[in-house]
Amino acid sequence: MNSEQTDIAALQSRIKQLEQQCSDLEIGLSTAIEHGDLVQAELEQANQRLQGEIRERMALENKLRVLVNSITQKSRDLEVILQAITEHSDQLDLQWLNRYVETENAANTDALTGLANRRVFDQSIVQEWARARRNQQPLALIVCDIDFFKKYNDNYGHQQGDYCLRQVALALKGAVQRVEDLVARYGGEEFIVLLPNTDLAGAREIAQHIAKRLHEANIPHEYSAISDRVTISMGVCAMIPNDSDNSRLFATADHLLYQAKNDGRNRIAS
Ligand code: GH3
Ligand code: MG
Ligand code: MG
Repeated sequence: MNSEQTDIAALQSRIKQLEQQCSDLEIGLSTAIEHGDLVQAELEQANQRLQGEIRERMALENKLRVLVNSITQKSRDLEVILQAITEHSDQLDLQWLNRYVETENAANTDALTGLANRRVFDQSIVQEWARARRNQQPLALIVCDIDFFKKYNDNYGHQQGDYCLRQVALALKGAVQRVEDLVARYGGEEFIVLLPNTDLAGAREIAQHIAKRLHEANIPHEYSAISDRVTISMGVCAMIPNDSDNSRLFATADHLLYQAKNDGRNRIAS
């Protein structure tokens, strides 16, 4: 083989080599192109997915915002309604309470004098008698009756008689100190003073205060057979209960009251 042939052979071999390389490159290139298309397609898909998700998320966020706004508004409305209801119910409670207190007061109070009425006394004597019995303490009672009140009424008139009853009530009220002491209108021109944990000496002292206050009130009574002013007679007693029968407390005080009347009125019998 001459050199030319050798060169041709070498060139042919080189051409083959190059052809092979070229074919490899083409394959590589087409693979790369295909692959690149795939990557790009995937990227586009991912991008679209992402954009879709972003849109969805924004739509959801918007919905959420609308929902939060609506809930906030509703909660504000509710607060206003709640406040209105609370204020209204406070008013209702107060009205109800006022009515209840009024009814209670009316049921327990003597309308003319404002003192407790006989109903209260009847309940109190039972309770206080039981308490005194439990604690073995004295319970005292003063029963009071205005002297010659019929004459007062007949001569000064019923209205003036009512005024006199109110003045006597004030004297009685003013003479007792402790909150647990009870002054009540028993009926007509008769009053009682119930004194828990008070012995006979203490009760007599209160009775003297009452007489003094009434004297100072100086309610003229020119038709009284014994004085120039309104006077009262009082029966006073005190007991440490040893049984459940409280009736003897009132019976004893009432008996002493009539003794005071018989002894000339305007006095305290004990
Ligand atoms: P004594 O000294 O013995 O107690 O005689 P008195 O006149 O006070 O007693 P009597 O029981 O005879 O009269 C009581 C009078 O009290 C009869 C009635 O006219 C009068 N009275 C009773 N309740 C009321 C009232 O609510 N208002 C007025 N103004 N008078 C009343
Ligand atoms: Mg009487
Ligand atoms: Mg009387």
